[in-house]
Amino acid sequence: MLLFIIFGWPRRSKEYGETYPGHCSHCDNDQYYELRKSRRWLTLYFLPLLPLERATRGLFCSICGTGFELDRTQFKAAKSLSKSTTAFAEGDLSEREYGRELETFEATLDISGTTNTERSDDV
Ligand SMILES: [Zn+2]
Repeated sequence: MLLFIIFGWPRRSKEYGETYPGHCSHCDNDQYYELRKSRRWLTLYFLPLLPLERATRGLFCSICGTGFELDRTQFKAAKSLSKSTTAFAEGDLSEREYGRELETFEATLDISGTTNTERSDDV
């Protein structure tokens, strides 16, 4: 009997879509940063078995992919902002309400503490 064992270590990502409007200093474009959480897993027969690293949470430029990491608190706030951004785009949220949501999110960002990361390889 011949038995093939198929394993791998792919990066699996969860995307939350356009989240934070901003200017990317890397590609010099005004765009929406996209929220993403990703982690590399050991898989057996394409099923995830073990996480091989801690999850990376961040906002990434929708044009060039450059981004910055978020901690858990910032990520939670960004998930909430992502819903507000969608609601604003669909006209369910006024500009003033959306502005308040942006301020709430920006309050969680410690700009000096964020780290710029290189373009991730999973896109
Ligand atoms: Zn960019």
